Amino acid sequence: MRTSKYLITTSKETPSDAETASHQLMLRAGLIRKLASGLYTWLPLGHRTLQKLTEIIRQSMNETGALELLMPVVQPSQLWRETDRWTMMGPELLRFKDRNSRDFCLGPTHEEVITDLVRDEINSHRQLPTTLYQIQTKFRDEIRPRFGVMRSREFIMKDAYSFHLDQNCLDQTYDVMKQTYSSILNQLQLDYRIVDADSGNIGGNASHEFHVLADSGEDEIVFSNKSDYAANVELAIGTIPQSPDAESQRPSEIIETPAITTIKDLCSHLSIEPSRCVKTVIVQGCDQEGIRNGSLITLVIRGDQTINEIKAEKLKDVAAPLTRATENEITSVFGCVPGYLGPLGNDIKIYADPTAAELTNFTCGANIADKHIKNANWDVPSINGSEPHYDDVFDIRKVREGDLSPDGEGTLSKQRGIEVGHIFQLGKKYSASMNATALDTTGKGIVLSMGCYGIGVTRLIAACIEQKHDEYGIIWPKSIAPFLLVIIQVDGHKSEQVIEISEKLYNSAKDLGVDVLLDDRDKKTSPGVKFADSELIGIPHRFVVSPKAIADGFLEYKKRSTNEKTLKSITECLQLINEIAEQK
Ligand code: ATP
Ligand code: MG
Repeated sequence: MRTSKYLITTSKETPSDAETASHQLMLRAGLIRKLASGLYTWLPLGHRTLQKLTEIIRQSMNETGALELLMPVVQPSQLWRETDRWTMMGPELLRFKDRNSRDFCLGPTHEEVITDLVRDEINSHRQLPTTLYQIQTKFRDEIRPRFGVMRSREFIMKDAYSFHLDQNCLDQTYDVMKQTYSSILNQLQLDYRIVDADSGNIGGNASHEFHVLADSGEDEIVFSNKSDYAANVELAIGTIPQSPDAESQRPSEIIETPAITTIKDLCSHLSIEPSRCVKTVIVQGCDQEGIRNGSLITLVIRGDQTINEIKAEKLKDVAAPLTRATENEITSVFGCVPGYLGPLGNDIKIYADPTAAELTNFTCGANIADKHIKNANWDVPSINGSEPHYDDVFDIRKVREGDLSPDGEGTLSKQRGIEVGHIFQLGKKYSASMNATALDTTGKGIVLSMGCYGIGVTRLIAACIEQKHDEYGIIWPKSIAPFLLVIIQVDGHKSEQVIEISEKLYNSAKDLGVDVLLDDRDKKTSPGVKFADSELIGIPHRFVVSPKAIADGFLEYKKRSTNEKTLKSITECLQLINEIAEQK
């Protein structure tokens, strides 16, 4: 490809509305353009990368025996009513009516459509197991589209769905998909983690997310420094300390603490560590159906910890989303402000985190204004007359860096990640409600087990840039670079030899099937602009052909990944082109 005939739309200015490096660089390098909030056009340069990534994903999926199909973006409401998601989904599902007033939506995902297809087309164990996938546009009316294609409203997803007669078979395909996703991310040379993910309300089956590590990531993940354990912080299991609190119990006393309503103030007043106090939080409760019923629940954690809302709101009688009782509610029930709450003398159901439950001689609010209890113990009646207790112990705290890994191996580190893929064992959720069955070998109808596997193709490109860039621009891995090699002509208008030699290198690269760009822009584009463009766009290899280089007999070669420059004879340049072609 010749730059003079290509659409290069680079810019030096950093767009004011782009916060993340990838968003800025994708705009500056001319990969994407915004049409409206969360909607982007992929320019030819960006489209080349998109196509290369799509092809890597397609090849990897095909190797597993998965079959590609293409389903409509527009989906009828009836299918979504069958699974109840027409009412369950919020405004993220973009709904509209056709000319006959029938309800439709733009597909944010395709579980309903694929299950509908499979219930019609697959009836026998002979057709199973099967994995079907597509690479296609999704629409989610995100409340806050941001970071360019990282969280857009329209985006491209590879979504695969597998169908099985039994769990064992689903487990096997799930493992194959996990390995396939790892191989795709390895081909992009990304630093990523596979993390235990929330299997949501769908039921306790396996679910893993693939996170590309980057400081700008929206998710916080923790992982062990010694084992494979990794989890979204929302879900990471809290362990209790290896050496339990062994202090012998001391008699408790009520102490005066006027105007001390925070753990910080309490600790400095008494010269104690926050880990010797407990924090008491009152939240709204719910009935068995999850409906708020005006009840309250007490959550107790250690003073140096924070409540993990996702874990807490999963408890049976805690309302989701987690809602703290208001100060008015607390004052009317306890007669004191939240800063003096404690678990003793409190008849509202108490759930304690294990690290709080194992404490001895702790300090907590006395449920009396301006008073705390010192040396409180869970099993000793308190001097304020109440029977101390907790109703149950649940893991409700946010894990922290340095905590013991729940598998007992190593300690946890924390990093931010970008979720680029999600695999999920759906079990029978969709197949049961939509009646997708097949006959087993004995002729018995079996409700199919199902898995689903998504990769955010467009997000993955942004994530890759987020991890691979420097102050000059993008540093593409060779597998998805829009061009592998750029040959820059300097002063071509002054020297026929510049044209001749650059054309020779260009043609030899083309003949070897290397994606090569010949920067043949005329004198209106300065050499400096050509150099800067090649770095911004992130082309892995660059030759500069100038009259001076030709006179000296050596051309300048620059490797983008190291920004290292070397001089090479024309023969060496041709040899390097051969090597680039071989390593493709
Ligand atoms: P998130 O938590 O980031 O909103 P999700 O869990 O809703 O994502 P999934 O339903 O698991 O997403 O979709 C599969 C993949 O699609 C995600 O792992 C992600 O890579 C991609 N994806 C989801 N939403 C978007 C979006 N708004 N823009 C770009 N990619 C997205
Ligand atoms: Mg997800």
